[in-house]
Amino acid sequence: MKKKAGPDPSRDILIFDAHCDTASVLLDLPWSFRRSPAHLDLSKARKGGLQAQVFAIWVDPLFAPHRALHRGLRVLQAMEQKVFVPKLAMKVTTVAEMDAAVADGRLAAWLFLEGGHIIENSPELLAVFHSLGVRGMTLTHGRNTDWADSSTDTPRVRGLTALGRRIVSQMEQTGMAIDLSHVSDASARAVLRAVSAPVMASHSNARKLCAVPRNLTDDLIRAIAASGGFIGANFHPAFIQRRVYEQIEANFAGYAREMKERAKGHRDDPDFLSRMEWEYFQRAVKGNAAVTLSEMLDHIVHIASLGGIDCVGLGSDFDGIASTPVDLKNAAAYPALVAGLKRRGFRRDEIRKVCGLNLKRFLHRVERRRGRA
Ligand SMILES: [Zn+2]
Repeated sequence: MKKKAGPDPSRDILIFDAHCDTASVLLDLPWSFRRSPAHLDLSKARKGGLQAQVFAIWVDPLFAPHRALHRGLRVLQAMEQKVFVPKLAMKVTTVAEMDAAVADGRLAAWLFLEGGHIIENSPELLAVFHSLGVRGMTLTHGRNTDWADSSTDTPRVRGLTALGRRIVSQMEQTGMAIDLSHVSDASARAVLRAVSAPVMASHSNARKLCAVPRNLTDDLIRAIAASGGFIGANFHPAFIQRRVYEQIEANFAGYAREMKERAKGHRDDPDFLSRMEWEYFQRAVKGNAAVTLSEMLDHIVHIASLGGIDCVGLGSDFDGIASTPVDLKNAAAYPALVAGLKRRGFRRDEIRKVCGLNLKRFLHRVERRRGRA
């Protein structure tokens, strides 16, 4: 008979990750959330000690402008049908609900929108999504919206339009987290000027260590931290090491002609185009240079050194990334991350902050501002 173990020492560490794209994967593939080939499923969450997770309702900008809301609602429905499994995982909309779910041994699942294009320029929809349980929105994805610029598109607004300012101040009043991952530097700075709420970058690394547009400048790291905000470190090798980013870019350049050929006749079929892009992403990471957990931890160390130990946490981007560090392959690997932080000299209370408490405190701050901003 198995000897009854004492209290598991890792259990007093809340592992709470700020970003995954598992929901859209579950919509598109016939996989179960209990066990699947995805980076995140219930069995891996259990194994890794993951207790709470922000699920992005990600909509590829290819669905904009007129199919984004439709697609977003379908991803939301995939959460309802596949992720909220009675007794195992539940939707949470407040920190109190999260604490109760975690105490009950269930995975606490928060909902965010990823991509401001989902609300199709209608700030009124923020309240609708709030009543559906959504508690945050990443303002852009890889392309500009009509009211804010993306870090990976040609600048157009160079800040926020009047509509953009209305949207962020409405988010502040509604009690929704304003997420600056994917947002251009100028638009991010405009957001920080427009609101007094704490803001976040749910899944972004440090540009100082990996010079790619998706990562945060030192100034933005300081400004987000000074707002009382949160920065979740991303596990995507291309955002950890620039050499991987360059390999992927070069591969994509090589696919351009083939992609254009295949896209012919599908211009009005975002489902097809989005699936096709993902297929090439998976191809583009093959043979990339290996990146390690320790190199990801360098970003956490750097962000903490600028913004303080209270601003940094985890934003894995699991199931939105086609590859991972070699020793951080999926949600079952969190114990290795905890051990890695320990090896890097973080004290236990600091490890607890990075692994979940910072994100929890940030969301509590956002929640308390509802109706008060
Ligand atoms: Zn993203």
